[in-house]
Amino acid sequence: MAASGKLASFRLPPLPTVGELIKLYNLRAEKQLSQNFLLDLRLTDKIVRQAGSLRDAHVCEVGPGPGGLTRSILNAGAADLLVVEKDTRFIPGLKLLSEAAPGRLRIVHGDILTYRLDRGFPTNISKPWEGDPPNLHIIGNLPFSVSTPLIIKWLENVANRTGPFTFGRTRLTLTFQKEVAERLTASTGSKQRSRLSIMAQYLCTVHNCFTIPGRAFVPKPEVDVGVVHFTPLVQPQIQQPFQLVEKVVRNVFQFRRKHCHKGVEKLFPEARRVELTQEMMQQADVDPILRPTELTIPQFRALADAYARLCAHEPALLTYEFREELRLKHVARKSNTASSPTLTD
Ligand code: SAM
Repeated sequence: MAASGKLASFRLPPLPTVGELIKLYNLRAEKQLSQNFLLDLRLTDKIVRQAGSLRDAHVCEVGPGPGGLTRSILNAGAADLLVVEKDTRFIPGLKLLSEAAPGRLRIVHGDILTYRLDRGFPTNISKPWEGDPPNLHIIGNLPFSVSTPLIIKWLENVANRTGPFTFGRTRLTLTFQKEVAERLTASTGSKQRSRLSIMAQYLCTVHNCFTIPGRAFVPKPEVDVGVVHFTPLVQPQIQQPFQLVEKVVRNVFQFRRKHCHKGVEKLFPEARRVELTQEMMQQADVDPILRPTELTIPQFRALADAYARLCAHEPALLTYEFREELRLKHVARKSNTASSPTLTD
């Protein structure tokens, strides 16, 4: 009984429903901002449960909109919820929620892509990286156009222990287009295995929690949605700078149906391609005829380590970009054509 009494103490008082709030403030979803709302609080409660216990937690919710997920986070016992919302139309409705949960909801009108989350919470909540994660969570149902660039940015932050990861191994519970959720969590050999799978999994434990059918959103998006949970690993599976790992993984996956050496080749200038690719594949002890989707993370680690060694020997390799070489060649060809004499000259 005592436990349920405690639970009741952080539940919100009766409020207009999210649907009523939408009507009250005339919050039509903006197609341009890919706004798809979740009005079913059982579903938002289920998303919040994937984060683990939020009792007394600090939470950042990205894109609260009309506040369905926000209510579930508060009802789950978060002590300090910082919401970052780009669209001003939602601020009055969020203020109403904030009055219903005195001292527990902070509202920021801003863009999550630029907001300094490292300044959003007190430093005393930090936990050593090697210890348990801090009692800080990031939760959000974001537009697809934002969630992918955002997770790439946050993965880089994990690698560098910056942004929300200055507090330790902050956990994330986020929604993605179902196909992206599958790519993030795809295992070796699966059809969905991609650049995102490697980048997420070398840094985090990644779990595809459940799928929300598109029809659960208002308005209904074209696709279903996956809820993905991330916990940064104490020890990343690849111990090279993020940018270097990203470059190796991006190059390997640029020909995803071909043998992996095809992508590796593009890490090197044309004149030295064959020799350096052979050296890198040998050093990494990776079979060059495996497909990118068949490579394990330890094999990507071996490739990144081998590439780092080659770059240490020849630092110019690090800045070499195959597409830039192609672009320069194209420009040179064009200017040659323009300046070469024609028959009528
Ligand atoms: N969380 C609400 C829900 O589940 O019903 C709204 C979800 S809606 C898909 C995405 C929300 O993110 C919208 O409120 C939108 O205005 C907001 N948003 C979009 N881009 C944003 C950004 N860059 N920074 C902060 N909020 C953003």
